[in-house]
Amino acid sequence: MSEKKQASLLVQGYEVVIGFETHAQLATQSKIFSRAPTAFGAEPNTQACAVDLALPGTLPVMNRSAVELAIRLGLALGSHIAEQSVFARKNYFYPDLPKGYQISQFEIPVVQGGEVSFFLGAHSTGSGQSEKRTVRLVRAHLEEDAGKSLHEDFIGQSGIDLNRAGTPLLEIVTEPDIRSSAEAVAYAKELHKIVTWIGICDGNMQEGSFRCDANVSVRKPGAPLGTRREIKNLNSFKFMQQAIDYEVRWQIEQIEDGHAIQQATVLFDPDTGETRAMRTKEDAADYRYFPDPDLPPLVIARSWVDEVKAGMPELPRQMAERLVTEYGLPEYDATTLTQSPAMAAYFETAAQGSGQAKMASNWIMGEVSRRLNAEEKDMAQVPVSADTLAALLKRIADGTISNNAAKQVMDALWAAEASDVDSVIEAKGLKQMNDAGALEKIVDEVMAANVENVAQFRAGKEKAFNALVGQVMKASKGKANPQQVNDVLRQKLG
Ligand code: ADP
Ligand code: MG
Repeated sequence: MSEKKQASLLVQGYEVVIGFETHAQLATQSKIFSRAPTAFGAEPNTQACAVDLALPGTLPVMNRSAVELAIRLGLALGSHIAEQSVFARKNYFYPDLPKGYQISQFEIPVVQGGEVSFFLGAHSTGSGQSEKRTVRLVRAHLEEDAGKSLHEDFIGQSGIDLNRAGTPLLEIVTEPDIRSSAEAVAYAKELHKIVTWIGICDGNMQEGSFRCDANVSVRKPGAPLGTRREIKNLNSFKFMQQAIDYEVRWQIEQIEDGHAIQQATVLFDPDTGETRAMRTKEDAADYRYFPDPDLPPLVIARSWVDEVKAGMPELPRQMAERLVTEYGLPEYDATTLTQSPAMAAYFETAAQGSGQAKMASNWIMGEVSRRLNAEEKDMAQVPVSADTLAALLKRIADGTISNNAAKQVMDALWAAEASDVDSVIEAKGLKQMNDAGALEKIVDEVMAANVENVAQFRAGKEKAFNALVGQVMKASKGKANPQQVNDVLRQKLG
């Protein structure tokens, strides 16, 4: 980043510094060290087994599939995958962790280094142009989740649900490379896209499958890093931005008032829009980490990594670049269409089937997305197939129907009134009038019925021309081709 750009991102003379810790719940069938199921929403305390609670006499056994998903992430982000990594006990007391420690990785994590790159929108860069950003990763480590405290259904008491205990998590930690709340959200969205794209996490933020902790500090440009406060468990992109913006303003205010920032863990309250301290922050030493004697080091053979690599899909960024070169799409379209594998596949089928790549892109980003959003559906639930969209685009391209008529066809297809494009066009009588003779007849009639407009036009009033076009379109019930109407009218008006 140049000096100039950095300067324009300052908030009241302060530089914002953010590092992210993201917990992605891995999409395995069973827990990380036991055979208990991980499905969400079961009756409390029906899905935690003796191993998840570390009852005496039990031993954890590593879930191979969780390791494989960690390898996938490492491959997607260009990280080093450790040949040997170590599980450690992180000791702390909390009611939702009756075993008294969490199995995590400390000194040697399975995924090391790597980076996440994304485009930051023009309104957020300070330069007025969209810019590429790269956030370096420190590590991603495997660990187990704890249970959950339930406060809502109890008066003066709390309940404990241990179903989540032992659910596999990958904690993805960045360097403090992020410089604004907008950049933080863009990073989190890109990471979310990657983990769902490569199928390691379902990405469901309401259910807590993807939750972010934002470490936030501020400093004067050039000064050493300021003291951070960690905003815990941000599970919506909207709250993420609000929480960081509030936190930055709060920290600057404190410093300007002469107070030092205390390292702390804070929670964001969406109702007040404020962050508030939960506890002062522990340091690593407080957890008394030590290698878990129940688990041998995790050894990953090079051949296993190669095998996983062979099964990796094309990644969103690579695919976006290909859509630009292969279909001549603008960068913006390519990025939008690679939101999910389902959307990208839908585009490619529609583009290839119709031979109209840009039109397919416009329709998917516009008409299709708008309808999906209105019904709160995603691409997996789209009621009109990509082949059907291709058939519709062909009819626009060959002049059979206008773009407006095509939207009416889409309405019928969407409502499942019919599935065949040509029969909808036929049934609704939407064919554009391409018969020159019939059009000339209408034009003659309209001119005869609107002598005043004709006279005004001939006297030099261009507005009268538009009125005549409107009359012809109306008389043709919207089926005349507007360009053709223009040509015929001009010719007849002499
Ligand atoms: P811990 O595990 O105790 O939370 P780490 O040192 O591992 O602490 O850092 C956690 C996260 O905080 C990382 O993403 C790191 O980049 C970020 N971070 C560290 N120092 C700062 C700082 N001064 N300002 C903002 N973020 C920071
Ligand atoms: Mg932390």
